[in-house]
Amino acid sequence: MTVFNLGSINADLFYRVPHLPGPGETLASTSFQRGLGGKGANMSVAAARAGTRCTHIGAVGADGAWAVERLTEFGVDTRHIETLAQPTGHAIIAVDDDGENAIILYPGANAALTTAGLISALAQAEEGDYFVTQNETVLQAEGARMAQSKGMRVAYAAAPFDAKAVQAVLPYLDLLFLNQVEAEQLQQATGLAPEALPIRDVIVTLGGDGCRWYCKGEIKHFAALPVTPVDTTGAGDTFTGYVLAGLDRGLPMAQAITLATKAAALMVTRQGTADVIPDLRDVHRFDP
Ligand code: ATP
Repeated sequence: MTVFNLGSINADLFYRVPHLPGPGETLASTSFQRGLGGKGANMSVAAARAGTRCTHIGAVGADGAWAVERLTEFGVDTRHIETLAQPTGHAIIAVDDDGENAIILYPGANAALTTAGLISALAQAEEGDYFVTQNETVLQAEGARMAQSKGMRVAYAAAPFDAKAVQAVLPYLDLLFLNQVEAEQLQQATGLAPEALPIRDVIVTLGGDGCRWYCKGEIKHFAALPVTPVDTTGAGDTFTGYVLAGLDRGLPMAQAITLATKAAALMVTRQGTADVIPDLRDVHRFDP
């Protein structure tokens, strides 16, 4: 089976600075690093490293060939990623000596996606394959509708939260991922608590408190593993990618969540995003 992921591809540009610049201030950075990022790319890397086939649907600019190469190196099928006239999406991330950050996010090609990649990728999909998307691109509802009509199972991570985008996708979902803040925002927007949503499976992640799985009127809690967090960036994306990969490989939901919980715990002990998402062997060996 295959996970088809319609999602963002970003260059994460990290600048180390003595303090975050104020209005009108020019500041020299003491170091610079470029990495692959974007919730979409992170999820594709996680799914591929968790041992399933993953096809990424997305877009970069002419400056994004390296990002596509990196995804390919991680084992992601990149044949349906479009190259557009817009620059590749990127995040300018300033980090000061206290670890505080300020981020400018430029959506670029992610916001200019056309249906061409979606149509060509989903032409390869089979009934029962997974489709997943998040909110850092366009075409979420179109993708979800097309996937459902092909008999695919449709999953969605409602991040970054956008009430209109979420409501447009909700009717097509089999599986919804929310963090605690998004669960509250969705309840404010719809009046519905996670257990009342008309979706078969809803997973609410709770950071260091693990997650809750809502299914058919039942709620199951999964505790997080005891680790000392170094950098929690990408924990949610790793978790989602691992759950989907587990399900796609035929694991029951509880086992997929248990594996994803372990992968996400290992991820928070590592500094960085897509480049350090653990593979299945590391996750199996990890024993906190
Ligand atoms: P992010 O936006 O930082 O990627 P998120 O807000 O989408 O994350 P979280 O709920 O913070 O998602 O975390 C997802 C999962 O990662 C949790 O369900 C848990 O299993 C794991 N996790 C997160 N923080 C910790 C932690 N401090 N210790 C152990 N596991 C953690």
